[in-house]
Amino acid sequence: MAERWTPNTWRSKPVKQMPVYADQDKLAAAEQRLSNYPPLVFAGEARRLKAALADVAHGNGFLLQGGDCAESFAEFHPNNIRDTFRVLLQMAVVLTFGGSTPVVKVGRMAGQFAKPRSTDTETIDGTELPSYRGDIINGFDFDAASREPDPDRMVQAYNQAAATLNLLRAFAQGGYADLHKVHQWNLGFVERSPAGERYRDLADRLDETLNFMAACGITAETTPQLRETDFFTSHEALLLPYEEALTRVDSTTGDWYDVSAHMLWIGDRTRQPDHAHVEFLRGVKNPIGLKCGPTSDPDELIRLIDILNPANEPGRLTLIARMGHEKVQDKLPALIRKVQREGRVVVWACDPMHGNTIKSSTGYKTRPFDRILSEVKDFFSVHQAEGTHPGGVHFELTGQDVTECTGGAQAITDHALAKRYHTHCDPRLNASQALELAFLIAEGLKR
Ligand code: PEP
Ligand code: MN
Repeated sequence: MAERWTPNTWRSKPVKQMPVYADQDKLAAAEQRLSNYPPLVFAGEARRLKAALADVAHGNGFLLQGGDCAESFAEFHPNNIRDTFRVLLQMAVVLTFGGSTPVVKVGRMAGQFAKPRSTDTETIDGTELPSYRGDIINGFDFDAASREPDPDRMVQAYNQAAATLNLLRAFAQGGYADLHKVHQWNLGFVERSPAGERYRDLADRLDETLNFMAACGITAETTPQLRETDFFTSHEALLLPYEEALTRVDSTTGDWYDVSAHMLWIGDRTRQPDHAHVEFLRGVKNPIGLKCGPTSDPDELIRLIDILNPANEPGRLTLIARMGHEKVQDKLPALIRKVQREGRVVVWACDPMHGNTIKSSTGYKTRPFDRILSEVKDFFSVHQAEGTHPGGVHFELTGQDVTECTGGAQAITDHALAKRYHTHCDPRLNASQALELAFLIAEGLKR
């Protein structure tokens, strides 16, 4: 018999990665404020995403999840939101066509602020301060005032998420997502990319298909699906006071939903079955994700699935494998086999970012494009060998022309990283690297 759950039962469990707020009254006031704010997403939308993910779990569809490692207050600008949305749409068109499969689009956007860290403090030149944990918690600048966790940042993050979602909804439904326009952007990319020739065939075939459809009278005027799209939001449910304040009872079903995003996930560092993050997410009805790293154990994974998805509801749980390019072949098969043997229905997605972070010779935290691609390829081949569906990918990316990951057709070198290294946390694929990956994955999906 499962223990009783309410939005605050996580508070009696051990918890990792939680900031220590000095002023508890200020924290309570911020939580109180947030609990009176309107929902950012609606339960019905979360159910729609769950239904789409259920199709993916059954082998019909593909999940594309991506966005910043950490959104920031400083980079909050409509152009940044637009450009990340645009590159995700461009990737989705390539994957839809390449794989002849519907693509479920989920942004790491409108709430992806809180970051788990490997150490609680950081020491520079003999000064030790709390680690930066994301703009929703403390500041990036290395001084004592900035690094002090401030509860009011939760309110600012909520407001930024609300404005971001407002713009995303307008983009998704207001004509910006028109398939023909997205395709034109992709043609522009193929023109400009040093590796463009390789992608031209797929782009040309899509061109022909769209022309054929238009000749048959299937256009954005006649068919709304060609000019609108479903776009969902997600983030790591790390900062539990924020998530709790935004957890509400859905008036149509009486169920609890975390209305801070459509989908929430549990990070690799906070997936202990008896700890607070698992306790919190087991009780909300949103679709949820669980990161599975190289230390994930098959028996423990089943225990987590028992807790998080006891009814084996398709679409409820996405397992996001993030093994590292050298470990996928070794670690992933045992997890897949166990899940299959136990008859659990999940979406398997591949995060090829978090197991492939290295320090460049020039001192930057980076990820080589080839290792990212290699992890995706191995993820696909393991699923092919096991007879299971490689259900999706999860990327850290931006629509901006940053230099944070090395390699790709632009051949970004260790020395070039310094040019436009803007991330507040992990290195992201830039727009051209992200799109290149989509083309390379689409080639693989075809087989
Ligand atoms: C992340 O997705 O930004 C992250 C911290 O990932 P993981 O929990 O897999 O390390
Ligand atoms: Mn990250």
